[in-house]
Amino acid sequence: MVHAPERPVPGAPPVRINLYSDTQTRPTPAMKEAMMAAEVGDEQHGDDPTVHALCDRMAALLGKEAAMFLPSGTMCNVVALNTHCRNGDEVVAHETAHILSSEGGSHAAIAGVQIHPLRGPRGMFDADALRGAVRARTRYAPPQTLLEIEQTANTGGGAVWPVEVLNELTGIAHHHGWATHMDGARLMNACVAAGVPADEMCAGFDTAWLDFTKGLGAPLGAVLVGSEEFIGRAWRWKQRLGGSMRQAGICAAACLYALDHHVGRLADDHANARALAAGLRQIEGMAVEEPDTNLVYFDPTGTGMAPAALQAALLAEGISVSALGGRLRACTHLDVHAPMIGEALEAVRRIVRH
Ligand SMILES: *Cc1c(COP(=O)(O)O)cnc(C)c1O
Repeated sequence: MVHAPERPVPGAPPVRINLYSDTQTRPTPAMKEAMMAAEVGDEQHGDDPTVHALCDRMAALLGKEAAMFLPSGTMCNVVALNTHCRNGDEVVAHETAHILSSEGGSHAAIAGVQIHPLRGPRGMFDADALRGAVRARTRYAPPQTLLEIEQTANTGGGAVWPVEVLNELTGIAHHHGWATHMDGARLMNACVAAGVPADEMCAGFDTAWLDFTKGLGAPLGAVLVGSEEFIGRAWRWKQRLGGSMRQAGICAAACLYALDHHVGRLADDHANARALAAGLRQIEGMAVEEPDTNLVYFDPTGTGMAPAALQAALLAEGISVSALGGRLRACTHLDVHAPMIGEALEAVRRIVRH
């Protein structure tokens, strides 16, 4: 049985400090104003000027010829995998990749591809691991056609792949005639943390996308970029999946607003994440991974408290964190302000002590 998401329990204390996910950011009043003022048309028909403005801006920012506006990051991955690959192809990705764990099996159900999972610390793998995955081109082996990389690596702790490593890996993939695709759900976090422009970060990739509903704080939308030819072919999949929209400029306006106002401030989220990690590390027995960006993974087991118990105790105080793979995750974003970090740390210390 698969369940729809649960509704909030009536009478539960309101969440005061939301460290659950950067997907839970709310559009700011200024972003809503930009949405209200958006010029709109029929996106599916090619008539929405605000969507065109967003796509032009994103193609330039990520250094590709063309772009496509889609409702979600998941749909960017589904459209990209379907456009790059044919049934029976093999995609090489990290074993913790979002396409493998969190997209309802769409790679198998819709694209009909299999994923060759690579291992490596922090959601990343190296050139040796990639070379080791290359199969001989025989009639026995599945055709390998795509390398997929997440920047930042979500389950890897929001880790940032160094651009030199990305270039080396995409070079190997291209050498074998594969295409390369970046899941850039949190690409701008990586760019801000590493001080590398987005077009350089994506230079080795044929396609990439950015999510506007993570730290950038828009209510919905993601943009997939690639060559003119690729985006042209991708439109069939956008249509097929029901991702062609109508007056989508209302949402594209929020994305444009986010590009203008919410990129530079990601550095604040990273500073808050480092402060949170440093504070957690001072608690005896707490295992804490050093964050590169805005995701702090920690495991309280060594303090004598199970992750789920700490999560529940925090929630009872209006502080929400998520549980992922046996660890807890605290995520900083634009609705989390520096004083809340101190407050959250204070609560964790108090709960763990009792
Ligand atoms: C959130 C996320 C996605 C999916 O994006 P949605 O907009 O939620 O569909 C894909 N990949 C990674 C790494 C993500 O964090």
